[in-house]
Amino acid sequence: MTSTEKKAPSKKEESVFDWLKTLPPREGNIFFSLCEGGKKTVNKSKLKEALFDSGLQINDFRLRSFFEKLDRHRSNDIEFEDFNSIIKAGGLLIEKALRGELAVPDFRDFSINLDKIYDEIRPNRSGDLAKYIPPLAEVDPEQFGIAVVTTDGQIYQRGDSDVDFSIQSMCKVFNYSIVVENLGLDKVNRHVGAEPSGRQFDDLTLMVKGMGGSSLNPNNQIPFNPMVNAGAIMTTGLINPKNSTGQRLDYIREQFGRIVGWNAMETSGIKRPRFNKNMARQENFKGYNNIATGFLLMATGNIPHSDSLLPEDAHEDKEYEYDFYIEPAVTNALKVYFSICSLEMTAKDIAMGAATLANGGVCPITQDRVLSQSTVRNVLPVVQMAGMYNSSGKFFQEIGLPSKSGVGGGILLIVPQLMGICIFSPRLDSVGNSVRGLEVARKITQKYLVHLFDGTMTDTNRIDPKVPISKWRASSCGEAIWAASNGDVRSLERLTSQQRDLQAGDYDIRTPLHLASAEGQTEVVKYLLNNGVQPIPDRWGGYPISDAKDNGHNEIVELFTKLDVNYSEPVHLVEDPDGETDEMATFDNEMMVIELLFAAFENDVPGIRQLVARSIPVHAGDYDLRTALHLASAEGSLQAVKYLIEHGHPLNVRDRWGATPLDEAKREKRDSVIKYLSSLKK
Ligand code: GLN
Repeated sequence: MTSTEKKAPSKKEESVFDWLKTLPPREGNIFFSLCEGGKKTVNKSKLKEALFDSGLQINDFRLRSFFEKLDRHRSNDIEFEDFNSIIKAGGLLIEKALRGELAVPDFRDFSINLDKIYDEIRPNRSGDLAKYIPPLAEVDPEQFGIAVVTTDGQIYQRGDSDVDFSIQSMCKVFNYSIVVENLGLDKVNRHVGAEPSGRQFDDLTLMVKGMGGSSLNPNNQIPFNPMVNAGAIMTTGLINPKNSTGQRLDYIREQFGRIVGWNAMETSGIKRPRFNKNMARQENFKGYNNIATGFLLMATGNIPHSDSLLPEDAHEDKEYEYDFYIEPAVTNALKVYFSICSLEMTAKDIAMGAATLANGGVCPITQDRVLSQSTVRNVLPVVQMAGMYNSSGKFFQEIGLPSKSGVGGGILLIVPQLMGICIFSPRLDSVGNSVRGLEVARKITQKYLVHLFDGTMTDTNRIDPKVPISKWRASSCGEAIWAASNGDVRSLERLTSQQRDLQAGDYDIRTPLHLASAEGQTEVVKYLLNNGVQPIPDRWGGYPISDAKDNGHNEIVELFTKLDVNYSEPVHLVEDPDGETDEMATFDNEMMVIELLFAAFENDVPGIRQLVARSIPVHAGDYDLRTALHLASAEGSLQAVKYLIEHGHPLNVRDRWGATPLDEAKREKRDSVIKYLSSLKK
């Protein structure tokens, strides 16, 4: 890893870092990051809190022995040796959680944002229940739940996310997955297409393969895709057709179950989908359209016929009577189809299933490989193209994720390699999509860069959930500032072509122009000015011209003098310029330092903790010799201040202008921080 040089000033801090050096680096830093109140032990509940913050849950199947071991530990305070053996029981998962390396590293922030989205959308009562299947007309329309499961098994739940509801068309995703897995894509393609239909979900039109179908020329029409009813009835017809419908339903429940985290030993705590017989029967009773579709599929010859010879007629002795033959392959396919539409799951179950697809076919919790990678790769494009009925195209354009809705009010979304999402709210729009579900999906893509065709960094108003917030902030400005301060025009050109904002400032509103001026990088200053970058004041009211003046870069001073701008003078407060000065640490991962300072600026203690667990020294300084303690003090972030001090941050570090953290707290009038820091000085 990165090399660090930890120099600590006073006896007390020295002992903290000396002690840290005696521990194995990886586990030692994780342990150290969790120590509080200057103790060399970790508090049990603190450890749990950190894990829950990261999105792991107490009933996580993977963490059973870890939690058992933790609970068995006799005292509340855990020493390093015990800590090490306890976290080893949780394997890499625990370490990754504590280092902020899970799929969504800032899960706390992510959860807060989803809570906001939930609260914003809750008042929306528009839309109607699906009435054509009677039991669906009786559900409580107010229900609203969101569940998210990441590929690392972090779980977010809100509202009615543990309530069973009818999955209806959402079964089509899992169904198609199983059929492709079992029969292979080539065979499945002969029965069902992979083309958008543009039609409503229960349209009777099949995709025309040849020159139109007729009784003279069958076998030339297959359903457009497996996400519309025709295609789903077809794929259902392909699942173990020789078995009884009961056996088939049982098999499908088991496979769906595996996708959502059920395991055969039933130790994962997740159940198989529940069969709602009344729902299936009621749909069957009036489901003429689906029944017609089934026979249409038979007529085109693509549901395997059950008998090749006409069975004996039991009425040979009667002149006008004969047995009316109804092809059981069709009725059975329909029966199984109605049954699997009636299956019930919770939003959390379905989010887990979506996460299994996001995770390339391995359930994040049970680690069961349910589907092969190639199955998933073949299934997702079809879901993306056709999962949202006749608004699939528009939905993909706007939301950009493979998604499937059901008339039971559920919508599942798959963010490949990252997470599965399920929203449940029963009121539907005119095409049959959950109104609130769509709104949530919309808000999520407005907040997060998850649309499959989102670029990565240019839109700084949106967040990449794969990156910790402070890292995200750091990357939106840090790279340009470092490049400017190092005179690296090439990198700035590249950032310009990526449409990065070269005027963006850091936590102190220090911009590339400030740093280029301070470091005498004339070419950079010219480049920035030529590209329309304006000089703006920093936290202290200082313009880049002051940086150039302070450091004697006259050529740059002249460049700024030519501009028509009124420059104010910066106001810094340095109470005792000749006072004690502590050294700060150097750390060669510059972006990580910016990240730490952003976390301190935001009073984001979990964020600082994760960085400490990743071995950054708390007192590392940036291009202006600012440290995390300067930022936390200037912002009045008392918790962050305390955390930093307890983790060995020296008090008298001085920034470019000679100010200590206490000076900064005084200048910004942060009373609680002034009080706390002054008490330490005595
Ligand atoms: N079982 C329902 C049907 O076949 C499923 C429809 C849906 O959810 N879009 O009509």
